[in-house]
Amino acid sequence: MSFSNLGLSEKVLAAVAATGYTTPTPIQEQAIPHVLARKDVLGIAQTGTGKTAAFVLPMLTILEKGRARARMPRTLILEPTRELAAQVKENFDRYGAGQKLNVALLIGGVSFGDQDAKLTRGVDVLIATPGRLLDHTERGGLLLTGVELLVIDEADRMLDMGFIPDIERVCKLVPFTRQTLFFTATMPPEIRRITETFLHNPQKVEVSKPATTAVTVTQCQVPAGREAHEKRELLRQLLREAKDLQNAIIFCNRKREVAVVHKSLQKHGFSVGALHGDMDQSARTAALEQFRKGELPLLVASDVAARGLDIPEVSHVFNFDVPHHPDDYVHRVGRTGRAGRSGMAISLVTPLDQKSMVAIEKLIGQSIPRAEGDYEVRTEASDASERPREQRGRERSRGGRGKPQRGRDRERSHEPREPRGEARQASETRPSAETRPAPEARPERERPEREARPAREARPPREARQSSEPRDGARQQATPSHVPSIGRPEPRRQREADSEPGDHSHLPAFLLRPVRSPAGA
Ligand code: AMP
Repeated sequence: MSFSNLGLSEKVLAAVAATGYTTPTPIQEQAIPHVLARKDVLGIAQTGTGKTAAFVLPMLTILEKGRARARMPRTLILEPTRELAAQVKENFDRYGAGQKLNVALLIGGVSFGDQDAKLTRGVDVLIATPGRLLDHTERGGLLLTGVELLVIDEADRMLDMGFIPDIERVCKLVPFTRQTLFFTATMPPEIRRITETFLHNPQKVEVSKPATTAVTVTQCQVPAGREAHEKRELLRQLLREAKDLQNAIIFCNRKREVAVVHKSLQKHGFSVGALHGDMDQSARTAALEQFRKGELPLLVASDVAARGLDIPEVSHVFNFDVPHHPDDYVHRVGRTGRAGRSGMAISLVTPLDQKSMVAIEKLIGQSIPRAEGDYEVRTEASDASERPREQRGRERSRGGRGKPQRGRDRERSHEPREPRGEARQASETRPSAETRPAPEARPERERPEREARPAREARPPREARQSSEPRDGARQQATPSHVPSIGRPEPRRQREADSEPGDHSHLPAFLLRPVRSPAGA
């Protein structure tokens, strides 16, 4: 099958040829003829399948006829995040270069005035996040009664972010006679209900992510201390020792944690950017661009900000925090090993994360190899600067280390559970991650923040909504043949001698040392 068999216009075919694509992906092959026949489409596909071009290319063909009227866009595309909206606009810029189309982006973090001016000039394609779109309609600056084609992209993510009521409002503002293209990666009951309400006799096209079996993503979990500073040290250690690390996304569960980890890595001399929902749009775009170009090889990100980003070559993914929803794990791991390349996904797992890991392994249908044995938080010269100021003060006034606080107070202040100045010495007697006392329940405000209105509480557990079929992340995995071990640092030469070259080339060197049995420890 070639693009020329799909019914696309000459201009669009020329633009596709200019990008170098010769063969349509399965979602493109299946969806494009239906879109051109002006049918509603229900597309079950994830990012990475080529689904953006599956609606952008036929839309460009359709839009060649007709012209836009002031404040009345001809087509509307809804995206859950600003980054995704910007990526769709890039697709229109790329494939629509030969056409004089007005494409406008309505996203938060950008001034209303500029967006208003664009709408007044008339828009062929309006790409928007739901909140900002409704702000414009409520101000009276935008009429959706001229919309001939509506695209709802990443619908299940919209659900996660609490956007479904907004989507329902938008669907009621556009004409009943419009054509609707609806894309989602999964079909939970709420999404099914929406499709039954707002799609008319849709053509269903369903694809799985391509090359999942050919792609090799090595996954592993590394035991980590429950304190944030311990995890930050472990992360630095992993980053420094990771083999073949070209670039990495480091995922955190909370926006606040993204900011802390970002700052900490910067302080320790890493070239790192950050991406989370509280950053203003220009900072988000700049960070993403620098990461794409390789100017910043590391990016600390939250799930929502990173969802669906098309960053073709990511060699490593680190889960600084284990995600609470197993779906998010699959999605994060999917950031690496794209387009047939190999990749490495490393999760820092505290005793508190065990339940989440069980859910993840259940979803992906296999266990993630874990680094066994004692682990150690290494002391760095700059460690003291990471301790809370008040604690450093107390230590100084006592002429040494302060007594560790207990329980909730310590959790609140993020104070280290053990003094760090003598961590190496203390590690001799230190209990392993497994033998530490059970953690207390986390205070409410320590739970992950969502970047938009939370909708999950009202929903059945995610696992119940998933099929038992292993997801992409699982199929991408290549399990190392032995369980890696983390122990006390040894001279690099020794570590390299102990490793098995060619066997697990993506594992950080220090994960490749042989397992030390508890008896021999
Ligand atoms: P998407 O699923 O829309 O995020 O697309 C994933 C990636 O596939 C993007 O980098 C696209 O540029 C690329 N892509 C889209 N269509 C094709 C195609 N027919 N052949 C090769 N790559 C494609």
